[in-house]
Amino acid sequence: MLPVVFHPDYVVPLPAGHRFPMDKFRRIRDVLLHDRIISTEQIHTPSPATEQTISAVHSTSYIRDYLKGTLDTRAMRRIGLPWSHELVKRTCTALGGTLLSAELALSHGVACNTAGGTHHAFRDFGSGFCIFNDLAVTARHLLNSGRVRSVLIVDLDVHQGDGTAAILQTDPFVFTFSMHCDVNFPFTKQVSDLDISLAEGSGDEEYLQRLRYHLPSLLDSFDPDLVLYDAGVDPHESDRLGKLNLSDDGIYERDRFVIAACVDADVPIAAVVGGGYSDDLNELAYRHTLLHRAASVVFDAHMMGT
Ligand SMILES: [Zn+2]
Repeated sequence: MLPVVFHPDYVVPLPAGHRFPMDKFRRIRDVLLHDRIISTEQIHTPSPATEQTISAVHSTSYIRDYLKGTLDTRAMRRIGLPWSHELVKRTCTALGGTLLSAELALSHGVACNTAGGTHHAFRDFGSGFCIFNDLAVTARHLLNSGRVRSVLIVDLDVHQGDGTAAILQTDPFVFTFSMHCDVNFPFTKQVSDLDISLAEGSGDEEYLQRLRYHLPSLLDSFDPDLVLYDAGVDPHESDRLGKLNLSDDGIYERDRFVIAACVDADVPIAAVVGGGYSDDLNELAYRHTLLHRAASVVFDAHMMGT
Protein backbone atom coordinates (compact mmCIF):
# COMPACT_ATOMS: atom_id res chain seq x y z
CA MET A 1 0.00 0.00 0.00
CA LEU A 2 1.18 3.48 -0.88
CA PRO A 3 2.76 5.24 2.14
CA VAL A 4 1.14 8.63 2.81
CA VAL A 5 2.50 11.15 5.31
CA PHE A 6 0.28 13.40 7.44
CA HIS A 7 0.43 15.14 10.82
CA PRO A 8 -2.43 17.00 12.59
CA ASP A 9 0.06 19.83 13.17
CA TYR A 10 0.02 20.52 9.40
CA VAL A 11 -2.95 22.78 10.15
CA VAL A 12 -2.60 25.79 12.44
CA PRO A 13 -4.89 28.79 12.93
CA LEU A 14 -4.37 31.87 10.74
CA PRO A 15 -6.09 35.25 11.13
CA ALA A 16 -9.64 35.28 9.71
CA GLY A 17 -9.70 35.98 5.98
CA HIS A 18 -6.00 35.14 5.42
CA ARG A 19 -5.52 34.15 1.78
CA PHE A 20 -3.40 31.06 2.50
CA PRO A 21 -5.75 28.01 2.43
CA MET A 22 -4.34 26.34 5.56
CA ASP A 23 -7.32 24.04 6.18
CA LYS A 24 -6.77 22.22 2.90
CA PHE A 25 -4.14 19.95 4.46
CA ARG A 26 -6.57 18.30 6.87
CA ARG A 27 -9.19 18.06 4.13
CA ILE A 28 -6.75 16.27 1.83
CA ARG A 29 -6.38 13.58 4.50
CA ASP A 30 -10.15 13.49 5.06
CA VAL A 31 -10.98 13.16 1.35
CA LEU A 32 -8.40 10.38 0.91
CA LEU A 33 -9.93 8.41 3.79
CA HIS A 34 -13.55 9.18 2.84
CA ASP A 35 -13.06 8.12 -0.79
CA ARG A 36 -11.14 5.03 0.38
CA ILE A 37 -8.06 5.94 -1.61
CA ILE A 38 -6.10 5.13 1.54
CA SER A 39 -6.81 3.59 4.94
CA THR A 40 -5.50 4.85 8.28
CA GLU A 41 -2.81 2.12 8.35
CA GLN A 42 -1.16 3.76 5.36
CA ILE A 43 -0.65 7.05 7.17
CA HIS A 44 2.83 7.75 8.55
CA THR A 45 3.38 10.50 11.10
CA PRO A 46 6.53 12.63 10.81
CA SER A 47 8.67 14.21 13.54
CA PRO A 48 9.61 17.86 13.24
CA ALA A 49 12.88 18.47 11.35
CA THR A 50 15.72 19.54 13.62
CA GLU A 51 17.70 22.77 13.37
CA GLN A 52 20.72 20.74 12.34
CA THR A 53 18.87 19.08 9.47
CA ILE A 54 17.47 22.41 8.26
CA SER A 55 20.99 23.86 8.29
CA ALA A 56 21.86 21.54 5.39
CA VAL A 57 20.81 24.44 3.17
CA HIS A 58 19.69 27.38 5.34
CA SER A 59 21.96 29.77 7.24
CA THR A 60 22.06 29.35 11.01
CA SER A 61 21.15 33.02 11.57
CA TYR A 62 18.02 32.78 9.39
CA ILE A 63 16.90 29.52 11.05
CA ARG A 64 17.43 30.93 14.57
CA ASP A 65 15.74 34.24 13.80
CA TYR A 66 12.71 32.51 12.33
CA LEU A 67 12.41 29.95 15.13
CA LYS A 68 12.67 32.67 17.79
CA GLY A 69 10.37 35.09 15.99
CA THR A 70 13.06 37.79 15.66
CA LEU A 71 13.01 38.29 11.88
CA ASP A 72 12.32 41.90 10.94
CA THR A 73 8.96 43.08 9.60
CA ARG A 74 10.15 43.19 5.99
CA ALA A 75 11.38 39.57 6.11
CA MET A 76 8.10 38.47 7.69
CA ARG A 77 6.07 40.36 5.10
CA ARG A 78 7.96 38.61 2.32
CA ILE A 79 6.98 35.23 3.85
CA GLY A 80 3.33 36.33 4.09
CA LEU A 81 2.37 34.18 7.10
CA PRO A 82 2.14 35.70 10.60
CA TRP A 83 4.66 34.30 13.08
CA SER A 84 3.37 32.09 15.91
CA HIS A 85 4.72 29.23 18.01
CA GLU A 86 2.19 26.96 16.27
CA LEU A 87 3.41 28.00 12.82
CA VAL A 88 7.03 27.33 13.81
CA LYS A 89 6.05 23.81 14.86
CA ARG A 90 4.02 23.37 11.68
CA THR A 91 6.92 24.54 9.51
CA CYS A 92 9.34 22.03 11.04
CA THR A 93 6.76 19.21 11.03
CA ALA A 94 5.80 19.70 7.36
CA LEU A 95 9.50 19.69 6.49
CA GLY A 96 9.86 16.51 8.55
CA GLY A 97 6.99 15.13 6.45
CA THR A 98 8.90 15.62 3.22
CA LEU A 99 12.00 14.05 4.76
CA LEU A 100 9.93 11.06 5.92
CA SER A 101 8.27 10.79 2.48
CA ALA A 102 11.70 10.62 0.87
CA GLU A 103 12.83 7.91 3.30
CA LEU A 104 9.63 5.93 2.65
CA ALA A 105 10.17 6.32 -1.09
CA LEU A 106 13.68 4.90 -0.74
CA SER A 107 12.31 1.80 0.97
CA HIS A 108 8.92 1.42 -0.82
CA GLY A 109 9.49 3.02 -4.22
CA VAL A 110 6.77 5.69 -4.02
CA ALA A 111 5.52 7.86 -1.14
CA CYS A 112 3.41 11.01 -0.88
CA ASN A 113 3.27 13.80 1.64
CA THR A 114 -0.01 15.68 2.24
CA ALA A 115 1.84 19.01 2.52
CA GLY A 116 5.21 20.36 1.35
CA GLY A 117 6.62 22.04 -1.72
CA THR A 118 7.95 25.23 -0.11
CA HIS A 119 10.04 26.05 -3.16
CA HIS A 120 10.16 29.86 -2.79
CA ALA A 121 12.34 29.69 0.35
CA PHE A 122 15.97 30.78 -0.21
CA ARG A 123 19.04 30.14 1.93
CA ASP A 124 18.70 33.34 4.00
CA PHE A 125 15.07 34.34 3.63
CA GLY A 126 11.56 33.05 3.03
CA SER A 127 9.08 34.20 0.40
CA GLY A 128 5.59 33.49 -0.99
CA PHE A 129 4.26 31.44 2.00
CA CYS A 130 7.52 29.43 2.09
CA ILE A 131 9.81 29.50 5.13
CA PHE A 132 12.25 26.59 4.83
CA ASN A 133 12.78 24.82 1.49
CA ASP A 134 11.71 21.21 2.10
CA LEU A 135 12.85 20.03 -1.35
CA ALA A 136 16.36 21.46 -1.05
CA VAL A 137 16.75 20.42 2.61
CA THR A 138 15.61 16.85 1.87
CA ALA A 139 17.88 16.50 -1.17
CA ARG A 140 20.95 17.87 0.62
CA HIS A 141 20.25 16.00 3.87
CA LEU A 142 20.06 12.64 2.06
CA LEU A 143 23.17 13.45 0.01
CA ASN A 144 25.11 14.54 3.11
CA SER A 145 24.18 11.36 4.96
CA GLY A 146 25.26 9.21 1.99
CA ARG A 147 21.78 7.72 1.48
CA VAL A 148 21.72 8.84 -2.17
CA ARG A 149 24.29 10.04 -4.67
CA SER A 150 22.05 12.19 -6.85
CA VAL A 151 18.57 13.75 -6.70
CA LEU A 152 16.30 15.05 -9.46
CA ILE A 153 13.77 17.68 -8.38
CA VAL A 154 10.74 17.82 -10.68
CA ASP A 155 8.78 20.98 -9.88
CA LEU A 156 5.46 21.22 -11.73
CA ASP A 157 3.88 23.86 -9.50
CA VAL A 158 2.70 26.74 -11.74
CA HIS A 159 5.22 29.05 -10.05
CA GLN A 160 8.94 28.67 -10.71
CA GLY A 161 10.90 26.86 -7.98
CA ASP A 162 13.12 29.92 -7.60
CA GLY A 163 14.39 29.23 -4.07
CA THR A 164 15.24 25.63 -4.94
CA ALA A 165 17.04 26.73 -8.12
CA ALA A 166 19.08 29.39 -6.30
CA ILE A 167 20.03 27.18 -3.34
CA LEU A 168 21.11 24.26 -5.55
CA GLN A 169 22.45 26.20 -8.53
CA THR A 170 26.05 25.05 -8.13
CA ASP A 171 25.26 21.63 -6.68
CA PRO A 172 26.33 18.98 -9.23
CA PHE A 173 24.47 16.23 -7.37
CA VAL A 174 21.02 17.78 -7.64
CA PHE A 175 19.28 18.50 -10.95
CA THR A 176 16.48 21.07 -10.72
CA PHE A 177 13.70 20.94 -13.32
CA SER A 178 10.92 23.51 -13.12
CA MET A 179 7.99 23.79 -15.52
CA HIS A 180 5.92 26.90 -14.83
CA CYS A 181 3.92 29.76 -16.32
CA ASP A 182 6.21 32.61 -17.38
CA VAL A 183 3.92 35.51 -16.40
CA ASN A 184 3.41 34.24 -12.85
CA PHE A 185 5.16 34.98 -9.54
CA PRO A 186 8.15 35.05 -9.03
CA PHE A 187 8.64 37.90 -11.48
CA THR A 188 12.42 37.63 -11.25
CA LYS A 189 13.13 34.05 -12.25
CA GLN A 190 16.20 32.13 -11.08
CA VAL A 191 18.08 29.66 -13.26
CA SER A 192 17.17 25.99 -12.75
CA ASP A 193 19.15 23.25 -14.48
CA LEU A 194 16.13 23.03 -16.80
CA ASP A 195 13.39 25.66 -16.96
CA ILE A 196 10.36 25.18 -19.17
CA SER A 197 8.37 28.38 -19.27
CA LEU A 198 4.81 28.05 -20.58
CA ALA A 199 2.70 30.83 -22.02
CA GLU A 200 -0.42 31.98 -20.16
CA GLY A 201 -3.42 29.84 -21.02
CA SER A 202 -1.53 26.67 -22.03
CA GLY A 203 -3.79 23.64 -21.64
CA ASP A 204 -3.54 19.86 -21.12
CA GLU A 205 -2.25 18.98 -24.55
CA GLU A 206 0.69 21.34 -24.73
CA TYR A 207 1.57 20.83 -21.08
CA LEU A 208 1.64 17.03 -21.27
CA GLN A 209 3.48 17.09 -24.56
CA ARG A 210 6.30 19.19 -23.06
CA LEU A 211 6.45 16.96 -19.97
CA ARG A 212 6.51 13.74 -22.00
CA TYR A 213 9.29 15.15 -24.11
CA HIS A 214 11.62 16.17 -21.26
CA LEU A 215 11.12 13.90 -18.24
CA PRO A 216 12.09 10.46 -19.62
CA SER A 217 15.33 11.78 -21.13
CA LEU A 218 16.19 13.54 -17.85
CA LEU A 219 15.68 10.31 -15.91
CA ASP A 220 17.84 8.55 -18.45
CA SER A 221 20.70 11.06 -18.68
CA PHE A 222 20.94 12.22 -15.04
CA ASP A 223 20.09 8.77 -13.67
CA PRO A 224 19.07 9.97 -10.17
CA ASP A 225 18.89 7.82 -7.02
CA LEU A 226 15.74 9.71 -5.99
CA VAL A 227 13.13 12.04 -7.49
CA LEU A 228 11.44 14.71 -5.38
CA TYR A 229 8.23 15.77 -7.10
CA ASP A 230 6.36 19.01 -6.40
CA ALA A 231 2.85 18.28 -7.69
CA GLY A 232 1.35 21.76 -7.22
CA VAL A 233 -2.21 21.93 -8.56
CA ASP A 234 -2.09 25.65 -9.32
CA PRO A 235 -1.74 25.01 -13.10
CA HIS A 236 -5.46 24.03 -12.87
CA GLU A 237 -7.91 26.10 -14.94
CA SER A 238 -9.92 27.09 -11.82
CA ASP A 239 -6.92 28.08 -9.69
CA ARG A 240 -7.08 31.56 -8.19
CA LEU A 241 -3.38 32.33 -8.79
CA GLY A 242 -2.26 30.11 -11.66
CA LYS A 243 -2.64 31.21 -15.26
CA LEU A 244 -2.64 27.85 -17.03
CA ASN A 245 -5.63 25.80 -18.13
CA LEU A 246 -5.15 22.23 -16.96
CA SER A 247 -8.27 20.16 -16.31
CA ASP A 248 -8.70 17.58 -13.52
CA ASP A 249 -7.93 14.89 -16.10
CA GLY A 250 -4.83 16.79 -17.19
CA ILE A 251 -3.51 17.06 -13.61
CA TYR A 252 -4.23 13.38 -12.97
CA GLU A 253 -2.49 12.31 -16.15
CA ARG A 254 0.48 14.57 -15.35
CA ASP A 255 0.89 12.96 -11.91
CA ARG A 256 0.36 9.45 -13.22
CA PHE A 257 2.91 10.02 -15.96
CA VAL A 258 5.60 11.41 -13.62
CA ILE A 259 5.20 8.62 -11.08
CA ALA A 260 4.99 5.84 -13.69
CA ALA A 261 8.06 7.22 -15.50
CA CYS A 262 10.05 7.01 -12.26
CA VAL A 263 8.76 3.55 -11.38
CA ASP A 264 9.53 2.31 -14.90
CA ALA A 265 13.05 3.73 -14.60
CA ASP A 266 13.43 2.11 -11.16
CA VAL A 267 13.90 5.47 -9.44
CA PRO A 268 12.21 6.04 -6.05
CA ILE A 269 9.89 9.06 -6.04
CA ALA A 270 8.62 11.14 -3.12
CA ALA A 271 5.85 13.60 -3.96
CA VAL A 272 4.66 16.72 -2.13
CA VAL A 273 1.39 18.54 -2.76
CA GLY A 274 2.73 22.04 -3.58
CA GLY A 275 0.56 25.06 -4.27
CA GLY A 276 -3.15 25.23 -4.97
CA TYR A 277 -5.49 28.16 -4.40
CA SER A 278 -9.27 28.22 -4.38
CA ASP A 279 -11.98 29.65 -2.19
CA ASP A 280 -13.75 26.30 -2.39
CA LEU A 281 -11.68 24.13 -0.06
CA ASN A 282 -13.53 20.91 -0.90
CA GLU A 283 -12.81 21.35 -4.57
CA LEU A 284 -9.19 22.27 -3.81
CA ALA A 285 -8.63 19.32 -1.48
CA TYR A 286 -10.05 16.96 -4.12
CA ARG A 287 -7.73 18.46 -6.72
CA HIS A 288 -4.70 17.80 -4.48
CA THR A 289 -5.76 14.19 -3.97
CA LEU A 290 -5.44 13.53 -7.70
CA LEU A 291 -1.76 13.01 -6.83
CA HIS A 292 -2.48 10.33 -4.23
CA ARG A 293 -5.07 8.68 -6.51
CA ALA A 294 -2.57 8.48 -9.37
CA ALA A 295 0.22 7.33 -7.04
CA SER A 296 -1.98 4.57 -5.54
CA VAL A 297 -2.89 3.24 -8.98
CA VAL A 298 0.74 3.17 -10.15
CA PHE A 299 1.89 1.73 -6.82
CA ASP A 300 -0.70 -1.06 -6.78
CA ALA A 301 -0.06 -1.90 -10.44
CA HIS A 302 3.58 -2.53 -9.59
CA MET A 303 2.78 -4.45 -6.39
CA MET A 304 5.46 -2.62 -4.48
CA GLY A 305 6.01 -2.73 -0.75
CA THR A 306 4.08 -5.95 -0.32
ZN1 LIG B 1 2.56 27.66 -6.77
